[in-house]
Amino acid sequence: MLLKILLGFLCGLSSSAKARAAENETSSQGPLPLLLVSFDGFRADYLQRFPMPNLKLLYSEGVLVEQLTNVFITKTFPNHYSLVTGLYAESHGILASRMYDLDSHKLFKAGKDTDPLWWNQTQPLWITALDSGYKTAAMMWPGSDVTIRNRTATHFSPYSSSVTFQERLGNVTNWMIGNGTEKGVMFAALYWEEPDRSGHIFGPDNTTAMGNVLKEVDDNIGLLISELKRTGLWGRVNIIVTSDHGMAQCSPDRLIKLDDCLSSDDYMLVDTSPVAAIVPHKNPEAAFDKLKKCHTHMTAYLKQSIPDRLHYRNNQHILPIILVADEGWTIVQQGDKLPRLGDHGYDNSLPSMHPFLAAAGPSFRKGYRTTGLQSVDIYPLMCRLLSVPPGPNNGTLAQARCLLAGESCMDAPMVVGLVVGVLLLLTAITLLFRLLKSRRPSGSRPFQRLQLDDDDDDEALLE
Ligand code: AMP
Ligand code: ZN
Ligand code: ZN
Repeated sequence: MLLKILLGFLCGLSSSAKARAAENETSSQGPLPLLLVSFDGFRADYLQRFPMPNLKLLYSEGVLVEQLTNVFITKTFPNHYSLVTGLYAESHGILASRMYDLDSHKLFKAGKDTDPLWWNQTQPLWITALDSGYKTAAMMWPGSDVTIRNRTATHFSPYSSSVTFQERLGNVTNWMIGNGTEKGVMFAALYWEEPDRSGHIFGPDNTTAMGNVLKEVDDNIGLLISELKRTGLWGRVNIIVTSDHGMAQCSPDRLIKLDDCLSSDDYMLVDTSPVAAIVPHKNPEAAFDKLKKCHTHMTAYLKQSIPDRLHYRNNQHILPIILVADEGWTIVQQGDKLPRLGDHGYDNSLPSMHPFLAAAGPSFRKGYRTTGLQSVDIYPLMCRLLSVPPGPNNGTLAQARCLLAGESCMDAPMVVGLVVGVLLLLTAITLLFRLLKSRRPSGSRPFQRLQLDDDDDDEALLE
């Protein structure tokens, strides 16, 4: 009975959401262009710590996801590639800033390597969307200047840190507008290096320095809004503003000196802190035995025993041993000083590693806020917005659809709240009912008339 009432209540809510969905669907005019912007290394809590008036304006007209759970390892190339593929790093193959192929002995360095050996394991949205007849653009996004499975985005620019945000944005809006004869692009990805660069130099705890750079980032968001308004794209395109990872404070007091545990002659260090990838020259098990007890703030894993939850095992380019430093700790080789005051790459369950997401445009709800989402869910969301069939991916639309106007949705906190609320109400009613029942006069009284029936006087009356 309780269950029936609860289900009835939930179905009622769901059908009102469906009605809202139907209403929005009838007013939509097919897919709208989508602009995806990443501000590298924008830690989720910068939003609470620093005033960001332009960013607030953007999400007050749209949606805000306060924390995105990104993918391990929480570095730039793996996470930017997850955003545009919906895959964990083990599945898209861009596993780290530096990788090594044990067969060919090739070394991958992020930003300097376009070899299909690394890049052809999947394809990003700017390529998948070409198959739907769309034009696409990738402006300095990691992978944008790489020919992947023999194709690139319709428009792309090779990476150059000296090109300003305004110049990058100007190109992107020109490509989105198109010209008289040429259609504009339907999907564009735009990358900017800050606040990551300053986060490394000053550390996220440096409020003055981070305040300055976040003011610049917010000014760039202001530029984005005004440029979209100037070109008439505002209100006609969907915009997602997000990031790849957060940033942790490091310190010279938190160094893990690798060569205290293993001679540098015995291994090759491929990727560096905070997740070091190691190729032992001799017996991996023997090297692992030394590394696993090396430091209380570092965990060593043999490739085959990397925990499932990290989704970082099933790829030929994951090396025999990985070392994961605890938050804020830095792995160095002997003699090295602290390289950066801020760093990322740590365990992706740490809040300091999480970025945020804000979005606005006709397809998004207005003024909606939610606490969390997986970054791999953004890919199916973008495919839905563009009506592009998604490639195989690790994401789901279950929660992401809550961001969309015109989609029936009950997000997890709402369902939990409703169930708890209804159960409390039913419990209260049951208790009240029991209380009233127990207050009734004692049980023998209603039967007193029956006793009277047996009365001798009554029998006499009947006679
Ligand atoms: P990370 O080393 O993980 O902090 O990566 C951030 C840096 O990656 C940026 O400061 C850029 O120097 C570099 N970078 C970002 N995007 C690209 C790109 N598309 N091509 C080459 N290098 C890039
Ligand atoms: Zn980054
Ligand atoms: Zn970085």
